[in-house]
Amino acid sequence: MLSKIKELEEIALQLEPEAEARQVIRDIVIDYSENFLSELAQANTYVDKESNPEAIIQSAFSEEGRDMADLVEMVRLHVDTPGINPASGGHLGYIPGGGLFPSSLADYLAAVTNRYAGIFYANPGAVRMENMIIQWLNELMGYPKTAAGNLASGGSIANLIAITTARDAHLPHSSQFESAVIYLSGQAHHCLHKALRIAGLGQAILREVPLDDHFRMIPSELESMIQQDKAKGLSPFMIIASAGTTDVGAIDPLDQLADLSAQYQLWFHIDAAYGGFFMLCPEFRPLFKGMERSDSMVIDPHKGLFLPYGIGVVLVRDADKMRASHYYQANYMQDAALHQDEISPTELSPELTKHFRGLRMWMPLKLFGLKPFRAALEEKVWLTRYFHQQLSQRKRFELGPNPQLSVTYFRYLPVSGDVNEFNKKLMEEIHKDGRVFLSSTLLQGQFYIRLAVLCFRTHLSTIDRCLEMIDEKIDLLEKKLQVSS
Ligand SMILES: *Cc1c(COP(=O)(O)O)cnc(C)c1O
Repeated sequence: MLSKIKELEEIALQLEPEAEARQVIRDIVIDYSENFLSELAQANTYVDKESNPEAIIQSAFSEEGRDMADLVEMVRLHVDTPGINPASGGHLGYIPGGGLFPSSLADYLAAVTNRYAGIFYANPGAVRMENMIIQWLNELMGYPKTAAGNLASGGSIANLIAITTARDAHLPHSSQFESAVIYLSGQAHHCLHKALRIAGLGQAILREVPLDDHFRMIPSELESMIQQDKAKGLSPFMIIASAGTTDVGAIDPLDQLADLSAQYQLWFHIDAAYGGFFMLCPEFRPLFKGMERSDSMVIDPHKGLFLPYGIGVVLVRDADKMRASHYYQANYMQDAALHQDEISPTELSPELTKHFRGLRMWMPLKLFGLKPFRAALEEKVWLTRYFHQQLSQRKRFELGPNPQLSVTYFRYLPVSGDVNEFNKKLMEEIHKDGRVFLSSTLLQGQFYIRLAVLCFRTHLSTIDRCLEMIDEKIDLLEKKLQVSS
């Protein structure tokens, strides 16, 4: 038996490289990432072709290990080259990403030390750090200190946690689901529909509240819907508002919606995954008035705080309700229950074992201070205004309203021919070019191109490059049209 164990140990030890071997593989990764960052400003933001789509699948796992240099080269070629480059300041589509460098170091530390951040007893420091972050957010968003929250993997799971909590608080029996009514906007993010269905509310009644011409819910319309539903014997249950829609950056009239929630005793949820962190800037806080009166909200640090992907926050005003929906006890967990100075993340989330996400948020906020975050967010809004203003000075552009935050949209009205067709072609040309990346959407059935500024690496020169590219592509397409007609 002992010789067998020794024999196995010898092979298993390959999983623990020694200091020198660690340095070799670490240097390869560091060199690659430094090179990635130094070339980022010149790199394309979008590459629409893969050099070899089969490469990753064909390179099967084998019994023997491979060289780190080969692996990093595979990542470079087949992962970091094709598709959108969300680390680039030229990413102006969807809701852009970021990837603050200190967060990568924090992730590295969290992985090396592998602290267990799910339960207070296992790592009080990690849990305190996450709870300190939640408290800071409660204060920033105007929630009481006693509100609870969780650092989830993203906005979708954060919304699911809020909706599950709302369901348990208002609809304790599944027999109530079919007559429960949920009010939201046609612009609500699709992850809310997904979350409702996962939470078992697929049978509930969804009402799309009519929108004003800035895509914001109209409170008076909502109120008459609630009254009609009550008259029909249905049970109005929840209002889901957006504080910064993904499509156009619209903020619903939160304060008036809060009034209606209070008057009709509805759960008031706000999806501020995109817009929430603009609350850091005093200039924009008035737009969010009423945020502090909600029952729950979602904010995505991997959007508005420029962190790498993998962190979305849910806050719930009533901590007991959030815990009631997620808390479980188990025999093998009995030791944990004895040491409970602070609420543990697992009591407020579907997750037990989790990535220690607090460190990747705490570290850049501590290292840089809040000031550059506020400046960067304010800068993003000004850049969007600048883009809007520049297009408004050009002929033949149809623009959205003055941007409330950092998303805006436009389309070009060609001299002749179909407007939608022209703008689809324009989008294709922009994608093929790849210097900056924009995305498109449909608004009232019409094709529009969106610009969303949220990467911390986007600055004035990026927007100028984008404008230049739009001009160039429109010229090209108009010329082609002239030739063909
Ligand atoms: C991005 C976004 C979501 C989804 O969040 P993920 O982090 O992508 O899961 C939800 N709502 C809004 C408004 C968003 O912008």
